[in-house]
Amino acid sequence: MATTNAPLNILISAAGDDQKWKSVMVDRLPDANIVTEEDDYDPETIDYALFWKQPQGLIKTLPKLKAIFSLGAGVDHVVSSPSLPKELPVIRLEDAGMADQMVQYHLYAALHFMRDFDVYSAQQAKADWTQHDVARISQCRVGVMGLGALGSAVASSLSNLGFTVSGWSRSMKAIEGISTYAGKETLAEFLGQSDILICLLPRTSETENVLNSSTLSFLPKGAAIINAARGAMINEADLLRAIDTGHLRGAFLDVAATEPLPESHPFWDHGKIRITPHIAAATRFEESVDQIAENLDRLARGETPRGLVNREVGY
Ligand code: NDP
Repeated sequence: MATTNAPLNILISAAGDDQKWKSVMVDRLPDANIVTEEDDYDPETIDYALFWKQPQGLIKTLPKLKAIFSLGAGVDHVVSSPSLPKELPVIRLEDAGMADQMVQYHLYAALHFMRDFDVYSAQQAKADWTQHDVARISQCRVGVMGLGALGSAVASSLSNLGFTVSGWSRSMKAIEGISTYAGKETLAEFLGQSDILICLLPRTSETENVLNSSTLSFLPKGAAIINAARGAMINEADLLRAIDTGHLRGAFLDVAATEPLPESHPFWDHGKIRITPHIAAATRFEESVDQIAENLDRLARGETPRGLVNREVGY
């Protein structure tokens, strides 16, 4: 529980889930005054806001706002708004029940390629019973772009299952069993040894379009891509070309540049692309509210909250 004398005033704007968030927040913080945009509230009193996307124009009406809590792990949709004051702290969710889900998603997707389920799906369409050798899992090299709360959990789980795993991040990391690379200058080498490339980067000005015709060409021939981060990290036309020319084996995508993926988009009926509708890891209300409450306590004690976004770099 936060330890301020006056009750905290907290505004929720959560794109359709306001009432669910409100009810979990009220249970967890019974002394706080929790409101949604539908309630009759005084904007001048709001201390903290919980946002999914940053609602147009709302920030300007909240003169005493001390920080924004993002109701997701990614904050690109919150920090991208030019109306967001540079000095206003933004706090994101770190794991909060999402890492387990990300691990499940990536185990399935990585095994899809490693055990040739893509090949057998194509064969089934032709009633083809051809059997292929089963590869050794240790010979399948997985590269994980982004070794944060989610990427490091995925990398460790795949390594524990027997894959040979490496990871790439901005600053150098030490994770047991994982070979690590850091920085732009190591990207080509990292990609060159990734038979399955997983993208779990946050969307920032530096990571947008990071996978394009040039960088995709560094991947070994026959490599596969799994992207459950943001669609903006991959140039979709370049990805299609790399698959259609046979350089890449296929892709497993949970995100797209435009969501929902338009009905006419070539990804939908491409035989080498699997699509899921941005479901890799859902925000868990209870775990998220626990983390928000702990962070309110930290803020009340004058401590740095967990998941504080570095506004300079955008994540
Ligand atoms: P974190 O912020 O914890 O980790 C980000 C990682 O990416 C860090 O390792 C960071 O490096 C690295 N990174 C950032 N910028 C660069 C760069 N320019 N070059 C190299 N590495 C970089 O994020 P999370 O793990 O919590 O989440 C990752 C993303 O997953 C989210 O931003 C969101 O977009 C997506 N997501 C998708 C969901 C879905 O359902 N599809 C659900 C939840 C999240 P360093 O360690 O050095 O800082």
